[in-house]
Amino acid sequence: MARTRIYPKADAQTQWWETAFSRGTFSSIEKVLLHTTETGGWPGYDAGAKAPSLTYHPRLRAWRQHCYLDRSARALVDPADTVVRENRDNVVQIEIVAYADEKLARQRGHLPVSELTDDELGDIADLIAWVRAEWGGPPLVAPRFLPYPASAGASPVRMSGPTYGAFRGVLGHQHASGNSHGDPGALNVARILQLAGGTTITPTAPQEADDMFDANDRARLERIERALVAHDAEEDGRYKVESDRYQVDSGRFRWLSSALTGVASKVGVQLDEKELAAEVAGAIAPTVREAVLAAGQPAAVADAVVAALGAALAPPSQS
Ligand SMILES: [Zn+2]
Repeated sequence: MARTRIYPKADAQTQWWETAFSRGTFSSIEKVLLHTTETGGWPGYDAGAKAPSLTYHPRLRAWRQHCYLDRSARALVDPADTVVRENRDNVVQIEIVAYADEKLARQRGHLPVSELTDDELGDIADLIAWVRAEWGGPPLVAPRFLPYPASAGASPVRMSGPTYGAFRGVLGHQHASGNSHGDPGALNVARILQLAGGTTITPTAPQEADDMFDANDRARLERIERALVAHDAEEDGRYKVESDRYQVDSGRFRWLSSALTGVASKVGVQLDEKELAAEVAGAIAPTVREAVLAAGQPAAVADAVVAALGAALAPPSQS
């Protein structure tokens, strides 16, 4: 991929602040994050201190770029108490000169975000398609967007730090962890994705358990939870195991990796079940070992349990 750092349609001179601030550099682009400026014209962004990567002015159908595409912009709050650095999480930020606060827009005679025309939505789609062609991401997936003011503050669509960190796709300031702003409100993101990809992609809401899981997934998760509780109970001295005849019940564990691959496929990610099983086994091994030791078993038993984990989690072989 060419990984071009300046959008060819953008004016990268008038408000170019690349060197005015220290910035992180992205190795890939995982998110495009959309804002609205809540202004009628190009904002000053405090001389770049609060600038996004690019600004799109719908009524002029013009773009300005403020820093290289793979360098961190500054339009999000980046608090220390979330696990991610919101501005630095491989995210291209776009401000649209429009209002999420549509009531205020009408009072002022400015542009409510829901009134962007199809051509204007197409300009934003073109930018996203270009980023994808140059950088290989992000995928054309979006969480559910809420209109302002329902979108502000701790709304149902606000992501946690880990969810924001893991998200790949097109989202808004209203989703960013550690932030309170509700922009870009009722922007027609479904239409932008459609125009960017040439196929109909309805927004999904991978950030909220209630939207993400269907009844089947929920049943699987409840099973996981029950199994973990049962596991805990057994650790209270009810393990009747000796090192030479300890067996992890593979039937009991195997469904965990298939449940996880099933959940992942819901959000469009294909996982190799074998690899996943190995990773899960590796990740929980220290905890399992500790739990077996805490249950009063000797180290040899703990080691035998850990050794059996990988095989227990692995999908049954096809042969
Ligand atoms: Zn914003």
